[in-house]
Amino acid sequence: MAFNCKQCGTCCMHMGDYIEIEREIGPFEFECSSVSTGTPFFAMVDEDKRELFLERAWIQGYPSACRFLRPDGVRVVCTIHKTSAPQCKFYRCVVFRVYSQNRKFLGTVTGTYALHTSDKELQSAWERRERTINWDSPDVEDRIADCLRELGYIAE
Ligand code: SF4
Ligand code: SF4
Repeated sequence: MAFNCKQCGTCCMHMGDYIEIEREIGPFEFECSSVSTGTPFFAMVDEDKRELFLERAWIQGYPSACRFLRPDGVRVVCTIHKTSAPQCKFYRCVVFRVYSQNRKFLGTVTGTYALHTSDKELQSAWERRERTINWDSPDVEDRIADCLRELGYIAE
């Protein structure tokens, strides 16, 4: 099930303390570190985003945001998409959105496989069934989706 990032930028708005620029080593080139894993990485601003990156007025209003984040029309984008840290590349805020059979949105399963919902029926059904999921399975995402469907929900 493909995750479709909407490029809303929400996940990067508090990453300023986690993605650090150590020093600028060339035009649009930076030595960086990923603080949570202690991993250094080389970042180069994507060629098609250099004008965006040079525009700093917006980012100065968001001191907690990652320094590489910029608005681009209605989207808020990573300007080092090609060279961003591995955990950025693999991050997905949402694996599934969960709906009732009449397409009412009920909640999400996040990238950490946690269900977030304010629907009490879904919450208690999930709590009863999640114990039956093999979390070590290589196809755990399919198992979660199967489980939600068996409970009568739409997961997509
Ligand atoms: S991963 Fe999620 S929160 Fe982050 S930009 Fe994409 S849709 Fe937004
Ligand atoms: S490097 Fe890009 S994806 Fe990672 S936190 Fe910064 S803006 Fe977000």
